[in-house]
Amino acid sequence: MYEKEYLMLPGPTPVPPRVLRALSEPLINHRGPSFKKLIEDVTEGIRYVYQTKHDVLILPASGTGGMEASIVNFLSPGDKVLALSIGAFGDRYATIAKNYGCIVDKVDFEWGTAIDLDVVKAQLDADVNQEYKAILVTHNETSTGVCNDLEGLGNIRGDHPALLLVDSVSGLGVMDVRPDEWGLDVVVTAAQKGFMIPPGLAFISVSPKAWEAYAESKAPKFYWDLGSAKKFLEKGQTPVTPALPQYTGLREALKIFQEKGMDYMFAKQLYLRDMTRAAVKALGLKPLAEDAISSAAVTAVWAPDGIEAKAINKKMREEYNVVLAGGQKQLENKIFRIGHLGYVQHLDILATIGALEMCLQELGYPVVLGQGTKAVQEVIMSRKGII
Ligand code: PLP
Repeated sequence: MYEKEYLMLPGPTPVPPRVLRALSEPLINHRGPSFKKLIEDVTEGIRYVYQTKHDVLILPASGTGGMEASIVNFLSPGDKVLALSIGAFGDRYATIAKNYGCIVDKVDFEWGTAIDLDVVKAQLDADVNQEYKAILVTHNETSTGVCNDLEGLGNIRGDHPALLLVDSVSGLGVMDVRPDEWGLDVVVTAAQKGFMIPPGLAFISVSPKAWEAYAESKAPKFYWDLGSAKKFLEKGQTPVTPALPQYTGLREALKIFQEKGMDYMFAKQLYLRDMTRAAVKALGLKPLAEDAISSAAVTAVWAPDGIEAKAINKKMREEYNVVLAGGQKQLENKIFRIGHLGYVQHLDILATIGALEMCLQELGYPVVLGQGTKAVQEVIMSRKGII
């Protein structure tokens, strides 16, 4: 087996060498001036990636902790919320709200599709007494590779007072998100996806309107108390001992965003998505999501008839050291998912598709070697000098 592994997951994603080095810097006093400078720098950097002037706070958590924080800080038991789900993570968001005592109206859309804005509008119009305190939505549904239209959702909400709470764990830094312009009150993300550092930190943006809701919130909170995080940030500190190596790694990763610029980062992701989808289609396979709603972070693909998705992933891992993700819940063993976010580049996709062709052929799927890689190469050549 070759030593080099291709981690083609929708998180955790590969970490750039310069970030790995920054992760091993000596520890510092988390209540001293060096940490103050560090947290100020990374907070500014995260706001740059978020493209927001809202407050952004850093939590010692994976993405789910950030989602939980978005519920307990802005809602109270008994509050009515509208949860829009297009997959496993939309379901999770609804469950968190329910477990904290919210009354959850859950609207499910078929897995592989995006939220239907007309359905959402009808739901909001029916809420004549404006009882919904929040709308919960997944930006990029990692389990299906579908991206929701957040701008459209912000418009549909119109002047309904509900907060818009967004799980962008696998979307932020990967696809264009504009919290301020689109009226996204709270946007949660995590370190191990677009941000290119190991898991363990969550980020959360908070609009002025969300802070007003915070003042009213009666849900129990301590570890996730964002008011406390904000007060400590004003002193250049965190309420609890921060994961120091994560912060130095993050500072370095954020420099990459700042050096390249967000336009480049988003364009690069679309480019990786396009070459992946072109290859999948050239191989006669079917992506789960249609082009218009397809994620720039991950491509979910139906396994061909008669071949188990798990068999494809196993062969890819065991024979070529390419690690792909499988399907979750009802999509288990039906789809495989190719992550292409974070520190992934065009030749990683070329290698992945090359390995996929060989695996599929050996599993009995009729494929001419080079059919998929050619499609990748054509996308690369067509954008030469641009990305
Ligand atoms: N939301 C989405 C869209 C995700 O993709 C994930 C993780 O894959 C999560 C939430 C949960 O994040 P974590 O596993 O970091 O808690």
